[in-house]
Amino acid sequence: MSTKEKSLNFIEQIIEEDLKNGLSQDKLRFRFPPEPNGYLHIGHASSICLNFGLGLDYNAPVNLRFDDTNPAKEEQEFVDAIKNDVEWLGFKWDQEVYASDYFQELYDWAILLIKKGKAYVDNLSADEIAKQKGTPTQPGVNSPNRDRSVEENLDLFERMKNGEFEEGEYILRAKIDMASNNMLMRDPIMYRIINASHHRTGVNWKIYPMYDWAHGESDYIEQISHSFCTLEFLPHRELYDWFLDQIYDNEKVRPKQREFARRNLSHTVVSKRKLLQLVNEGHVTAWDDPRMSTISGMRRRGYTPTAIRNFADTIGIAKRTNLIDVSLLEFCVREDLNKITDRVMAVLDPVKMIITNYPEGQEEWLVAENNPEAEELTFRKVPFSKELYIEREDFLEEANNKFFRLTLGKEVRLKNAYIIKGESVVKDENGNITEIHVTYDADSKSGSGTEASKRKVKGTIHWVSIPHAVEAEVRIYDRLFTHENPDGNKEVDFKEYINPDSLKVITGYVEPSLKTAVSGDKFQFQRLGYFATDKDSTAEKMVFNKTVGLRDTWAKVESKE
Ligand code: ATP
Ligand code: MG
Repeated sequence: MSTKEKSLNFIEQIIEEDLKNGLSQDKLRFRFPPEPNGYLHIGHASSICLNFGLGLDYNAPVNLRFDDTNPAKEEQEFVDAIKNDVEWLGFKWDQEVYASDYFQELYDWAILLIKKGKAYVDNLSADEIAKQKGTPTQPGVNSPNRDRSVEENLDLFERMKNGEFEEGEYILRAKIDMASNNMLMRDPIMYRIINASHHRTGVNWKIYPMYDWAHGESDYIEQISHSFCTLEFLPHRELYDWFLDQIYDNEKVRPKQREFARRNLSHTVVSKRKLLQLVNEGHVTAWDDPRMSTISGMRRRGYTPTAIRNFADTIGIAKRTNLIDVSLLEFCVREDLNKITDRVMAVLDPVKMIITNYPEGQEEWLVAENNPEAEELTFRKVPFSKELYIEREDFLEEANNKFFRLTLGKEVRLKNAYIIKGESVVKDENGNITEIHVTYDADSKSGSGTEASKRKVKGTIHWVSIPHAVEAEVRIYDRLFTHENPDGNKEVDFKEYINPDSLKVITGYVEPSLKTAVSGDKFQFQRLGYFATDKDSTAEKMVFNKTVGLRDTWAKVESKE
């Protein structure tokens, strides 16, 4: 075990206990087992960080296992996206494996079970099976086919495999106990017929193993020591163990299923099925829409792997399901972006400002610091001229003493540039300000060392030089759902809570140094927030996504309501 200062969580305690009881450390092996039926989301990130984190802590291999047992829902696109996301989070898997790699082995074991009288072919309809299943308080009824002879079972099972029957006509069931207190033990289904092409095995197989049959046996084949899954699988553990009992060889590591609580995030949904609905019904543009809780959406939005891993570490793992406030994730994002991004200037709601005493046609390239948090300070040049854009909300004709921005008759500093003073405004016929006229103190240039440059004024505002500014599309996001737990009320469809104002597209102006920014580049737009270059961005038309604001404004809005 690494020399971790913090106390062990309950998962680590289980592992430590097993090591104490004789499991040798080199037998530790974990896996992350996504079903490739959608893109990974923030909930999966927790599971990835848990499993791969244990791998790092114990120097143990971690497999990336695709649970691809339902060809009707699974696709290669999802496999590729999942691999990309795990890699992007910064983890390295040992083997890339697929439940479908084991279809033959699983089939052979199923035959073994039939021969041992532990499995049988049934041809009851789904309805009849459901009726015979009983209820949690009432035992089920044995199927009339439960005592089919081994020969007949072997024959039918082989014909199922050969595609002689229709979907739903026959199934293979484990013969356990129709009176078990655990409903899952009442002769659960092991195989069903599915007529669909599988993204890896094509049409070779007509029968597909159920999750419970495939999962534990896959763990066993890979010699996974600890198989961690979410709490809803707790009642499956008995079945997991029963299936292992049928094939277990004492010389080998016996995998152990243990459960931890699903992680839910406020103001979003974490379910591939629901995220798929958002995509298919056009509520978002794609799986990687920056409003989505998917890893690809968060990446496009400008979140970093470090931030997501820090978030997963901070919330840790729990035994009970609860809702984590998304503002904690945003805090982690802000904390990382603060360290790594360059500070640049952009104006998103521009108003024109003219420095009346600045020489016509003059241009200066002023020195600006890139990132004050960086270990090594670097600088760039920003162009300055007579005509600038400033933020409309940074100017008021008249204001009280608490307004530290530009007003008539008072001074502010232009970031990295000069001290200016508001002189007059030009308005259109509706009274809207179209131009602000100011004068500047030519001796006050930032960093010039003059007395005037050291003069303290009340505020500093950002700007961009109009002749040099680059026009850009800026996408501003809000919560995708207005309700903190859109999934929490079974009476109301989660889509009822979609925020109609979750995306605002505006035109802004950025300093010319951003011309070379490419997809994924991240910045702090000074005084505005963190922004990332979108993949739609081109040299002709730049596009930026707002990643997160500089501070948490949502909590304030909510408490006002
Ligand atoms: P979904 O409903 O979104 O498809 P799932 O559990 O069916 O979720 P899988 O692809 O089967 O998705 O999950 C892979 C692994 O990730 C499993 O071990 C699962 O338990 C874990 N996982 C999925 N969602 C969460 C979550 N919200 N929090 C923590 N772990 C999760
Ligand atoms: Mg699943």
